[in-house]
Amino acid sequence: MICYRPFELHNHTQHSDGQFTVPGLMKAAAAYGYAGIALTDHNAVTGNAEVTPALETETGLRVIPGIEWTTFYGHLLVLGCDRFIDWRFVTPDTIDTALQEIADAHGVAGIAHPREVGSPLMCGCNWEFRVTRWDLVSYIEVWSQEDPMSRTKNQLVMPWYDGLLNQGHRLAVSAGRDWHAPDSKAHLLTATYLGLSEGEVNTPNTLAALRAGRTYITLGPTVDLTLWQEEGCFGLGETASAGQGEVRVQIGLDERQAVWEQWNIEVKTVRLVVNGETAAEQPFTGAPISFSRELPRGWLRAELRGSHARGNGDGEIIALTSPIYLA
Ligand SMILES: [Zn+2]
Ligand SMILES: [Zn+2]
Repeated sequence: MICYRPFELHNHTQHSDGQFTVPGLMKAAAAYGYAGIALTDHNAVTGNAEVTPALETETGLRVIPGIEWTTFYGHLLVLGCDRFIDWRFVTPDTIDTALQEIADAHGVAGIAHPREVGSPLMCGCNWEFRVTRWDLVSYIEVWSQEDPMSRTKNQLVMPWYDGLLNQGHRLAVSAGRDWHAPDSKAHLLTATYLGLSEGEVNTPNTLAALRAGRTYITLGPTVDLTLWQEEGCFGLGETASAGQGEVRVQIGLDERQAVWEQWNIEVKTVRLVVNGETAAEQPFTGAPISFSRELPRGWLRAELRGSHARGNGDGEIIALTSPIYLA
């Protein structure tokens, strides 16, 4: 039984350029209702030693050990490696070898803010590594920072990400706040929901969800996307057959409401995206939604569209899922 739980997968502490202590970050994240966070300091894993079982019990929060490889050619989020991997001399042409080393160390790799401003303003933040082994990259941070769609870098990521999917690569979505400091004011926040075996929040389950593509990102509402065919039911990251199918979307408005209700988030429509194009759209009335149709090879995802206090009109993206693949 897969159960989706909310995470914040991109955080910094005083072990790199953040202002948080490790316990301070954990307490701040727990207050926003996350089930777990990843510790991703720039080129440092020393913060992980400060995570104790007592702190995890006190905050009710699990911490996934990680690091943000921070290089001149891009930033890579690396979670759960069981050994040290030297990132210092990785170049655009040797990134595949480094990705293989991460996989060999049982870690998971995700590309952070791929369309951040690069040189000369923010040297190294833009993704310029020449990956050919996309099978060794598990996820793309398509939303970076709070209030994500107000940022040009995130608007630029979507066509690039969809292009990779259209080339046949399998990549999950993540939202990363890139959180560095305690909040002095309220923000429109994001969460990455991960589909965990039995809902158990621990590092192996988290890494497995990212590898399998069981993720969706949201400003608040929860999403359950399934594809029903004669052969059975398929969830995020799974591979169904091209052909007739019924896509079902269920939306939940009850989780973590205290965090997001102040932004007047309203889901107006549910969009079915197939191979990067809008295939169908239905108004959201509160009831489950279903799309019955002939599906081509490729991939599909659901997008929730609507309005919120920081947006313009009813077409803002409220949530989007990783793909279900169609072979
Ligand atoms: Zn970064
Ligand atoms: Zn970062």
